[in-house]
Amino acid sequence: MGTELTAATLTQLSYLVAAALFILGLKRMSSPVTAVSGVRWAGLGMLLATLVTLAFMHATPVNLTLVVAAIAIGGSLAWISGKRVAMTDMPQMIALYNGMGGGAAAAIAAVELYGGNETSVTHVAIAAIGGFIGSVSFSGSLIAFAKLQGLITKSVRFGGQKLVNLAVLLATLVTGVMIVAGLHSGPGMVSAFFALALLLGIAMTLPIGGADMPVVISLYNALTGLAVGFEGFVLDNAAMIIAGTVVGAAGTLLTQLMAKAMNRSLGNVLFSNFGETAGPAGAGVTGTQKAIEVSDAGVMLAFSQKVIVVPGYGMAVAQAQHKVWELCQLLIDRGVKVRFAIHPVAGRMPGHMNVLLAEAGVPYELIADLDEINAEFETADVALIIGANDVVNPDARTNRQSPIYGMPILNADRAKNVIVIKRGQGQGFSGIDNALFVLDQTRMLYGDAQSAVGHLIQAVKAAG
Ligand code: NDP
Repeated sequence: MGTELTAATLTQLSYLVAAALFILGLKRMSSPVTAVSGVRWAGLGMLLATLVTLAFMHATPVNLTLVVAAIAIGGSLAWISGKRVAMTDMPQMIALYNGMGGGAAAAIAAVELYGGNETSVTHVAIAAIGGFIGSVSFSGSLIAFAKLQGLITKSVRFGGQKLVNLAVLLATLVTGVMIVAGLHSGPGMVSAFFALALLLGIAMTLPIGGADMPVVISLYNALTGLAVGFEGFVLDNAAMIIAGTVVGAAGTLLTQLMAKAMNRSLGNVLFSNFGETAGPAGAGVTGTQKAIEVSDAGVMLAFSQKVIVVPGYGMAVAQAQHKVWELCQLLIDRGVKVRFAIHPVAGRMPGHMNVLLAEAGVPYELIADLDEINAEFETADVALIIGANDVVNPDARTNRQSPIYGMPILNADRAKNVIVIKRGQGQGFSGIDNALFVLDQTRMLYGDAQSAVGHLIQAVKAAG
């Protein structure tokens, strides 16, 4: 009895410490300066919670062997893939890991619901809710992964799709209620419940296209957290409840921020108006792009008073951030005022550009977000766009036919001159043409971002 009490108290105390570490970690992740240590603190919390659960679990030796084997296999795969993943593939990796979390929560629910050992209706209900959310998040995240990885290239849309999705949702809820009410809680009904929930995740995500993906990934992140929190109640595990709630809350806030950045209401996000386009891609963009010689671009930058740099996905692909900072330092040394403008969905994950610029050593005070910098473009001599496209497309402001109409953008088109570095006439993530590239004051400097910026550095030096 005494040992049990000590074990229980120790477990709860360790969970409390783990929870404090999660929250501390999350707090530190809010700034690029402390983010790496934040990840470590949160990881330490997870390690503590896992070790304590393993040490005090009442398992048979067979189960314990399976648990340890599962942790070893899962941990090794995560370690290897985490080490190998390119920064540009990070969103699909997040989608995949996210899905695994939702799947794990659904698996816990499956054990409870198939086992039929739960006596309390509340417990069954909580298990079923967690199982539902976890399953949707699992299958939805896998589809998101497949889309971002390019395994699914088309958005599946058909007439009456929302009605079909609504029918699947209702059918899932009905089976869930029947299980909870004990009317039909046999394995057949439980299987139907999970199959329907998984189908719903797939059906919800398949039609989503274009630039809405960030919101979706973030939403599934929040859902996974919620599912884990619910299953924490089922297992009476404080660490899971707290970790799940923290992830759920953080994910919900991020979803709202991303939705705002994409100009989607949360209602649209939740009720699957994703990726609906108002017209043909790039409708309304006419005119030709005008190229500029690197020497001319160098002179233009060297004799500017104010330059605003807009980095985008292409800078990440080219790993050009170090060269970009080298160029900016050169300009700053010449007395040019340089600032970096960061769009909330530039690149392929939240904070993508901030991470790259921090890695290159760009001081934080030079980096501004959309709300802070947008009014400054009018006073900039040059807006230097480096591998960005969708986030500076003025069609989002003016062209009602554009699929990205309404998305807040960086007002690069209001700068006196615009220099765009990109390899050719390629489109951005949303697959539409960019009205900025054909404006009178815009000049295209074609090339891979890293080598183009390298040449610009030489050109600025040569400008005298
Ligand atoms: P975009 O994807 O709109 O455009 C990137 C541009 O970079 C392309 O037009 C491409 O043109 C150019 N490019 C590619 N490789 C290179 C290279 N090596 N050197 C130079 N240029 C290159 O990027 P943005 O950052 O402007 O916008 C992000 C988009 O991604 C948004 O639509 C956003 O919604 C979406 N998204 C964002 C996520 C996030 O969380 N941040 C997650 C998922 C999607 P070219 O081929 O001619 O070189």
